Amino acid sequence: MASSKLEVLVDFGDSPDKQQVDKTIKELTSREGVKEAQFKDGAIMVETSLPSTEILEFVTKTSGRRAVLQGFGDGQSAVAMVSGQSCCGGTVVGVVRFQQTGDVLVADGSIDGLPPSSEHGLHIHSTGDLSEGCNSIGDHYNPLGSPHGGPQDSADRRHAGDLGNIRVGDNGRATFRITDRILKVWDIIGRSVAVSEKEDDLGRGSSPSSIVNGDSGKAIACGVIARSAGIFQNPKRICACDGIVVWDERDRPLAGKGRREAKKCCQNHSSPKGENIRENHHVNGENGIDEGRELKASCKV
Ligand SMILES: [Zn+2]
Repeated sequence: MASSKLEVLVDFGDSPDKQQVDKTIKELTSREGVKEAQFKDGAIMVETSLPSTEILEFVTKTSGRRAVLQGFGDGQSAVAMVSGQSCCGGTVVGVVRFQQTGDVLVADGSIDGLPPSSEHGLHIHSTGDLSEGCNSIGDHYNPLGSPHGGPQDSADRRHAGDLGNIRVGDNGRATFRITDRILKVWDIIGRSVAVSEKEDDLGRGSSPSSIVNGDSGKAIACGVIARSAGIFQNPKRICACDGIVVWDERDRPLAGKGRREAKKCCQNHSSPKGENIRENHHVNGENGIDEGRELKASCKV
């Protein structure tokens, strides 16, 4: 399976304890799915075929220190912050990262707040229009005019945007790493990625909507795909958007209440998964999306 390069910034302090660093590197490299790991300039470079969230959790646990994902992928990369796109419209929140290495696109992500042990379709939609939230992002991205299908189908038997299903753990979190040879990162920047309400039947069902969207229902969470920093491309230690350092940034939720000033329409809305989101959905402002503005735009006060 194609591997990805991750740049994981670890809070080892100004004079890192060599033993602690070595132990972290050693445990990382002995883990199945990790090809290589090395410490350089305060960051651990990891080459892996595991989801980035799993690596972050592992580094945090092994080192006992805070860790954030500073860069992802050594080719073209993109990222989408996924949510219900309305201030009070649910608690499904996550990040999906995309990386192109040669022919292979990797979609790596984690999404919180889904019903435990359920399955949901993951699709690239044709537009990045969030003017009506996830209702205005268009159909599945389908440049060849093909019927809906599954990720293993040939290009004339699936939409390019058909990435199949993601599986949710019993904690309500879906962590995934999907590889695909039909989609390319440069074709999807500016479009959106969405999680569907129901499982995608991959075009094999008996319902008339099976060949349209796999009978997967509406998009319950979505986000615009924006170009992002790859490894070594993001020298920031301070977030340009609001001037806070990455370690404070990491402890803030991705979006919504607590991220900035609480929005009026969101004051009664609280996320039961807030703690997890703070822990793991750091994106470090790397994609340049002003999520505050987006949230405001979709607020119905
Ligand atoms: Zn489709």
